Amino acid sequence: MKAAIFEGPGTLTVKEVPKPVITKPEDVIIRVDAASVCGSDIHGLAIPPGQYMKPGIIYGHEFCGTIVEMGEEVEGFRIGERVAVNPRVRCGTCYECTHNRGDLCSNSDHYGQLADGGFAEFAKVSRGQIYHVDQTISPDLVAQTEPLACVVSALGKVHPSPVDYVILYGAGPIGLTFIRVLKTFGVTNLIVTAKGAERVQEARDCGADLVVDVEKETLADVVKENWPFGADLIIDAVGRGNILPEAQGLINPQGRILLFGLDNNARSEIAPGFFVMNEISLVGALGKDFPGALELLKNPDLGLDRFITHRLPLERIHEGIDAMRNKKACRVLIYPNEER
Ligand SMILES: [Zn+2]
Ligand SMILES: [Zn+2]
Repeated sequence: MKAAIFEGPGTLTVKEVPKPVITKPEDVIIRVDAASVCGSDIHGLAIPPGQYMKPGIIYGHEFCGTIVEMGEEVEGFRIGERVAVNPRVRCGTCYECTHNRGDLCSNSDHYGQLADGGFAEFAKVSRGQIYHVDQTISPDLVAQTEPLACVVSALGKVHPSPVDYVILYGAGPIGLTFIRVLKTFGVTNLIVTAKGAERVQEARDCGADLVVDVEKETLADVVKENWPFGADLIIDAVGRGNILPEAQGLINPQGRILLFGLDNNARSEIAPGFFVMNEISLVGALGKDFPGALELLKNPDLGLDRFITHRLPLERIHEGIDAMRNKKACRVLIYPNEER
């Protein structure tokens, strides 16, 4: 079968590899229907890498597929059923796993990052990693269950309310997902930062109330001009830059700052006393809420299809990756089993 292999720093190659076979009774083989390219896939291909990826694995962790084969211990699923895949495989025995913190499992595997993932015609996944989905929902949306699950889990930690004034840094695929979820949750005061004309337009199309083009304007000026106070909730969906020090000047007393974007090369200087004096909550988020995401996917107003800019066969994955790097693409979907 064809698969996109992460060969090592900066190198992703589409080539022929053996089709996966059932080796354990809990194994499930799916034919991949759609897979989306994540910002972390781009970070992982940077030099130096912004996120570690294991050389030799099949890349891609946001995917869905149709079951074609099941091990003898797999029950409750059927051949021909489309399923969503949670790529983070918990060990089940470490301290975190045994103390209700399995999202932070210190011994976890991750399809598409540390183990074979979904940029391939077929993928082998474990029974515990798949979820039933409404079969009427398009694969374009089901493939995005993973990033949506991360957004839903993160927002669950900071409880956005319809009366909150919210600033969101970033209008990439995750930023736009945040916009759609915040809008679904009823947030009506939302300022979003974006880089470049395409991203600014996409953020507007997704429903941002005000979009700051960071190449032309300063967020602080726009906030001061439009909101007499500041923000109750600030979300960083970028992970680098001067966000934390800047957020200190924009957050209201008792506000919440959510750190979501991840770049291990990023560094930031903050004044701890500011957080004490203003009772600011600083929250990091890494978990995935799959049941919550699957529930939200049923809502026709969610609109995660609004910002799909590229639909490509696996052979043309580099077109999508380059377009994302150059901020010319937003959500890029790959169809390993279709000629497009
Ligand atoms: Zn992702
Ligand atoms: Zn564990």
